[in-house]
Amino acid sequence: CGIVGYVGSQSALDVVLAGLKRLEYRGYDSAGVAVLADGGLASARKAGKLANLEKELVERPLPAGATGIGHTRWATHGGPTDANAHPHLDNAGRVAVVHNGIIENFAELRAELAERGHVLESETDTEVVAHLLAEEFSVCAGLAEAMRLVCRRLEGAFTLVAVHADEPDVVVGARRNSPLVVGVGEDEAFLASDVAAFIAHTRSAIELGQDQVVELRRDGVGDGVTVTDFDGRPAEVRSYHVDWDASA
Ligand code: GLU
Repeated sequence: CGIVGYVGSQSALDVVLAGLKRLEYRGYDSAGVAVLADGGLASARKAGKLANLEKELVERPLPAGATGIGHTRWATHGGPTDANAHPHLDNAGRVAVVHNGIIENFAELRAELAERGHVLESETDTEVVAHLLAEEFSVCAGLAEAMRLVCRRLEGAFTLVAVHADEPDVVVGARRNSPLVVGVGEDEAFLASDVAAFIAHTRSAIELGQDQVVELRRDGVGDGVTVTDFDGRPAEVRSYHVDWDASA
């Protein structure tokens, strides 16, 4: 339902949680976050309100990191439980993905993954994406390319945002029929399903078009934002200034 991604120099957890709060008005049944830190990936997810997740984070704090993603879920496949909350991880716990929308061909992909030895731990349509990303990442040029390859196999409407522990300075997003906006700050960048999640930090936005993949990198945000289509061709992007009143 709500998605936030961040790469920069602030605490990713703080930025992501604040962003998720700005998206709470849309309604949701669970929430979760993942942060890249110390060469690894740490995550937390909880059914119920963001306050439940925050309580969990006090009891089991995540290490501090400057790259992270977060999600508020409105369940479509699988009940609103902790195990079905996003982010979803691959079996090695190296990749994390959050998703809005529906992957229509998930059953077929699930069966295929199970045959190749993957263990799927949730009832969601989303989890297949984490496993597919892990497979593609192991044989391709990076997370953005892995995302393009995976998106070409997905049917349905989706916004996806992912991180991989082996690319700690990168957040990747993809969209088909679901909104996704990039916020470009100074030496930091944001991804969100709605600009409300990042206007406290920047008003400079790029709206992703249909069937596009974006890569955000920590180094030099000017050329740190790369947008392509699902085949890897550079895409036309629409940059704009968000001028509506944030306090409204
Ligand atoms: N279909 C996914 C799920 O049920 C994502 C739902 C959403 O958009 O929040 O987990």
